[in-house]
Amino acid sequence: MESSEVLGTYVPFVRGSSQVVGVFGCPVEHSLSPAMHNAAFAALKLSYIYVPFPVQPQALAAAVRSLPALGIVGVNLTIPHKEAVLSSLDEVAPYARRVGAVNTVHCVDTRLHGHNTDGAGFLAPLRSFDVPPRSLAVVVGAGGAARSVVFALAESGFRVALLNRSASRAVDLAAAVDACYPGSVRVIETDARAELGQAVAEASLLVQTTSVGMHPAEEALPDVPLEALHPALLVYDLIYNPVETRLLREARARGCRTLNGVQMLVHQGAAAFEIWTGVWPPTDVMEHAVLRQLGRDQ
Ligand code: NAP
Repeated sequence: MESSEVLGTYVPFVRGSSQVVGVFGCPVEHSLSPAMHNAAFAALKLSYIYVPFPVQPQALAAAVRSLPALGIVGVNLTIPHKEAVLSSLDEVAPYARRVGAVNTVHCVDTRLHGHNTDGAGFLAPLRSFDVPPRSLAVVVGAGGAARSVVFALAESGFRVALLNRSASRAVDLAAAVDACYPGSVRVIETDARAELGQAVAEASLLVQTTSVGMHPAEEALPDVPLEALHPALLVYDLIYNPVETRLLREARARGCRTLNGVQMLVHQGAAAFEIWTGVWPPTDVMEHAVLRQLGRDQ
């Protein structure tokens, strides 16, 4: 597929033979996935186009079931559709079934297959850091992103200490993970400051999965005891806008290694791309497109 660049955005030339993929979300306007995927299609000269579809929750089932009729190869699901989509699918991959969330649908003939690439996307950038296997990971947050993270960590053999503003959500998530990986997760109560400090001091990995610190409230800090951060700790913040959150800045100042959410975004997208096309995309091109969209060209 030929493409041109207009004002920093990859604009694919659409032909009658172009294959369509996309993302269903509500809202979907701020998604970085169209830029990321279209850049990779252009780099590989694949005749695909990635389209954002604003899909209201009440329209999700009809939208998903229309995919085969429209000849759409597949879609990503983003907020708030990842869990609701399960009941509209013909097959769900084992990891997505365990997590209870699907972020990628693939139409195979007329059947709808669901996958979850968030866990693989989360784990991929961790491989460049020597985080000891079977060590302790502290996870802050128990929302949708945390679900994939905690399942992926437990599946990889980590012990997880989990805390969340709403304790009941942490308890529910821990119970769901524990049912698959017994003994892998414990919950830290929000007011158990000493226990939290001790867990962070002992941990090799701290994962921040809440939206605290996200643009535009960039000065906000999640509930993490900064005094317990130590140089052997990798602090991984899933937020990618801003690229360096205040938490990552504070962690870097205390000698920690840090990782932002850009690589996770890219790798969950790359895994979806491979499911749809059978080809592993150039992740450097995808990362460049994301950073460009975020106004931070490298
Ligand atoms: P979500 O399901 O809405 O969950 C939000 C989480 O943040 C919950 O744990 C919530 O706690 C917590 N939270 C929100 N406001 C808070 C506050 N003021 N104080 C304390 N905790 C607060 O959202 P999500 O889908 O998990 O996304 C969370 C973040 O991850 C977002 O910044 C998103 O951009 C990022 N993310 C990144 C990637 C990536 O590829 N890098 C992928 C997915 C998500 P309660 O349960 O108490 O409400």
